[in-house]
Amino acid sequence: MYQEASTPTDERGKATAAINMDAETAICPACETEFNPQGAERCPDCGLRIG
Ligand SMILES: [Zn+2]
Repeated sequence: MYQEASTPTDERGKATAAINMDAETAICPACETEFNPQGAERCPDCGLRIG
């Protein structure tokens, strides 16, 4: 039987991608694309979650 882990581990991932959501422009830590982070959940280029 498969047992699902109950401890969420995505907290660390959020800390790694340090993007200022209030800035007019942000740079994706993965592909270095510059984009507007306001209202964006993902990098428009590589799709990395930044929200
Ligand atoms: Zn990207």
